[in-house]
Amino acid sequence: MAKKKAAATDLPEPATHHDVVIVGTGFSGLGMGIFLKKAGRHDFLILEKAGDIGGTWRDNDYPGAACDVPSHMYSFSFEQNPDWSRMYSGQAEILAYMKGCADKYDLMPHVRCNQELLEARWDDAEQRWHLRTGSGHRYTARVLVSGIGGLSRPALPKVNGLDQFEGTVFHSARWNHDYDLRGKRVAVIGTGASAIQFVPEIAPKVDKLVLFQRTAPWLVPKPDGQLPEALKTAFRKIPGVQTLFRNSIYWQAEAFGVGFINPKLMAPIEKLSRFHLERQITDPALRAKLTPNYTIGCKRVLFTNNYYPALARDNVEVVAAGVKEVRAHSVIASDGSEHDVDAIICGTGFDVADPLGPLNIIDGSGTPVPHDGSMQAYLGITLKHLPNLFMLLGPNTALGHNSIIFMIESQINYVMQCLDEMDRRQAASMLVKDSAVESYNARIQASLKKMVWSAGGCKSWYINDKGENFTIWPGFTWKYWLKTRKPDFRKMQFKN
Ligand SMILES: Cc1cc2nc3c(=O)[nH]c(=O)nc-3n(C[C@H](O)[C@H](O)[C@H](O)COP(=O)(O)OP(=O)(O)OC[C@H]3O[C@@H](n4cnc5c(N)ncnc54)[C@H](O)[C@@H]3O)c2cc1C
Repeated sequence: MAKKKAAATDLPEPATHHDVVIVGTGFSGLGMGIFLKKAGRHDFLILEKAGDIGGTWRDNDYPGAACDVPSHMYSFSFEQNPDWSRMYSGQAEILAYMKGCADKYDLMPHVRCNQELLEARWDDAEQRWHLRTGSGHRYTARVLVSGIGGLSRPALPKVNGLDQFEGTVFHSARWNHDYDLRGKRVAVIGTGASAIQFVPEIAPKVDKLVLFQRTAPWLVPKPDGQLPEALKTAFRKIPGVQTLFRNSIYWQAEAFGVGFINPKLMAPIEKLSRFHLERQITDPALRAKLTPNYTIGCKRVLFTNNYYPALARDNVEVVAAGVKEVRAHSVIASDGSEHDVDAIICGTGFDVADPLGPLNIIDGSGTPVPHDGSMQAYLGITLKHLPNLFMLLGPNTALGHNSIIFMIESQINYVMQCLDEMDRRQAASMLVKDSAVESYNARIQASLKKMVWSAGGCKSWYINDKGENFTIWPGFTWKYWLKTRKPDFRKMQFKN
């Protein structure tokens, strides 16, 4: 009797079928869910590996975390928020906005948290995806939409001895809020977008802050501040004002993008950046350390008003060298200097070399998508040999100059039209032709080679170890919008 019972519980749970399964609950996944709801397509699930929704804005709750594209643009076009408290809102406000959107469109009943998708396998015979999550759940789906984000897995520095450090170590995207930094000697590794936000917040609290800087970033003033009540009232009461405000932010950002195509046009921004440094840092030695040695735009240009003043504090030391080694109580820089510290905070960005992480996507012949960051897609959305799979923020759709939410919405709009077309043709599946992926990527890669990310003399996370750029969209976002506005179904194969 007991034996029979054990055998019954050993049987795998039958898979649950949904028309669409979305992976991730950041702006991509939530946006996709909202569009499906709006179109009356209610048979979908959203899988999320974490315990709550929010993606980037759930994870990055470090002190000072905020967007670096103005909030009126860094938000959904169809859910404009007149109440943003400031030009560049903080993490808590952005997360609250996302949760508000999820509630408004009643997405939560569709969300399954603590369900990391580990395997997605296309079955040609059944014309559907077979999905397996880390918690052992199995699903099948006609359509799979990935919104897994490019910056969701923190990268710790590959430094000897980091695991032997006897103090506290954490990454900015997994901030240890229980650790009291007051009175501590703290090493910060990295000077990217997150470090420039949290360093000014923690510098006044700690006893000593040692900042390890491999490459000095180009910084410009951040036109931030509280938004006046009168303006918020105008947004609420006068039709079109908020859209006008959003559009003006959009076109200013696009104008900034001109410099990526022709770095010479970045000269005024470079001048502003040098002026910013000279005005805020008076010590010539420190100024020299903080002067970048590559073409502006090659790495993300960062907006800040309080980073340089924080570095000028007496309790802050900038070590213009990478980290060579970590010992039990100290950090050794590549210039040989040793620094005794109680804690190490890694502002070292994310694992972008393998955009899929532990997720295996397998085509109908059993071949997995490579994990080496060389993934290519047509318009960054559809991939060879993988029917009914749509990627949001797939290869070559990241941005250095404007709101990524604009790209996400363009992609979701594209996906929705593909779903409608499949319905119209009563097709079980849709697959992009190999030739479309190949010719599209040849064009993209050729134009990227001439641009600042490859030609600017820096090593950024946009470029892989082979010197290829499968990360960034080469140019203006309105061009991407034009390309995705109406899918070219001649580039697709449909199967009934
Ligand atoms: C600190 C920070 C600030 C930023 N500021 C800006 C900005 O100002 N402007 C801008 O344009 N961009 C900014 N970005 C980029 C930002 O990542 C995007 O703007 C946007 O949040 C991406 O949304 P997403 O939904 O595609 O991905 P994410 O927000 O990363 O969400 C992905 C979700 O998928 C989940 N997930 C991943 N893998 C799996 C799996 N296998 N199974 C289940 N769930 C999974 C993750 O847990 C996560 O919740 C910033 C990024 C960071 C880190």
